[in-house]
Amino acid sequence: MNAALTKPFWERKSLAEMTTAEWESLCDGCGRCCLAKLQDEETDEVYFTSVACQLLDTDSCRCTNYPKRLQLVPDCVGLTPDNLAEISWLPSTCGYRLVAEGKPLYDWHPLLSGSHKSVHEAGISVRGRVLSESFVHEDDLEDHIIHWID
Ligand code: SF4
Ligand code: SF4
Repeated sequence: MNAALTKPFWERKSLAEMTTAEWESLCDGCGRCCLAKLQDEETDEVYFTSVACQLLDTDSCRCTNYPKRLQLVPDCVGLTPDNLAEISWLPSTCGYRLVAEGKPLYDWHPLLSGSHKSVHEAGISVRGRVLSESFVHEDDLEDHIIHWID
């Protein structure tokens, strides 16, 4: 058999060639991108906080209204093959970022582990480490900066 055909889709297809289902499955479900971020105006450096978007289910780490997320949350970034390269703050563990950079997925990624639980078991998801923005005043975000996401 042609060796190229035995490779998984994320190694043999470009991002633009993937089906919608394949594209969506690159998301490991960590919830990291759904945390509020602060940007240093002088250095442009982006800092993650432990404050989650109001639509994030902080237990499952999934969006509670994925189909309408872009209408409901203006700050929500809808990742596409076209805008991926422009988003510099995606976590280094993010499945989209890894594939875009030609790097392998981690063994806890559901596409490799076969289970959505593995991202929680590996301590990669935000489960148990964040609180909803409903409980934090915008002016206090700085007090919630975290350093466990790079
Ligand atoms: S950081 Fe990447 S892998 Fe994690 S939830 Fe966001 S899009 Fe999915
Ligand atoms: S709207 Fe959903 S996908 Fe967008 S940041 Fe909030 S929880 Fe994440």
